[in-house]
Amino acid sequence: MTTQHHHGDEHQHDHQQCVDHALAAAEHVCARDGVRFTTLRRRVLELVWQSHKPLGAYDILETLSRDDGRRAAPPTVYRALDFLLDNGLIHRIASLNAFIGCTSPEHSHQGQFLICRECRVAIELDHSDIHQAIEHSAQAHGFAVESETVEVLGLCRQCRSH
Ligand SMILES: [Zn+2]
Ligand SMILES: [Zn+2]
Ligand SMILES: [Zn+2]
Repeated sequence: MTTQHHHGDEHQHDHQQCVDHALAAAEHVCARDGVRFTTLRRRVLELVWQSHKPLGAYDILETLSRDDGRRAAPPTVYRALDFLLDNGLIHRIASLNAFIGCTSPEHSHQGQFLICRECRVAIELDHSDIHQAIEHSAQAHGFAVESETVEVLGLCRQCRSH
């Protein structure tokens, strides 16, 4: 995995490339792990990837219903989101109660995000150092880490320059 994700230009770039890359990576991961990448799962992943801003389950439901002309069944959509989470294709941002596409689903990792409080862009970091530091400190407390998402709130480059 050598692709370097663009840092700091989450606002101006060819986003279709991000979407194409994410869908191709998802297909690869699902084939590798022998799980089915159904039409709905693909559609939900595409919706989550419509921008670099975390999207709530409600927004996903709304868009699906609008596009299909009828109400999408919430349990189906939640199951699709669970599938995407379980397979590392998206991350959940607890502070926003929303989901964001993973930029490197090929290798399993813990999510670390810089989240802009102004425009809500979330930039995924992948620093094994941070993970190790948390793991280490937890061990010192005799604590077993089960899930770990680091959410750092602030202002992105774009919003700072306004
Ligand atoms: Zn993009
Ligand atoms: Zn990720
Ligand atoms: Zn911003």
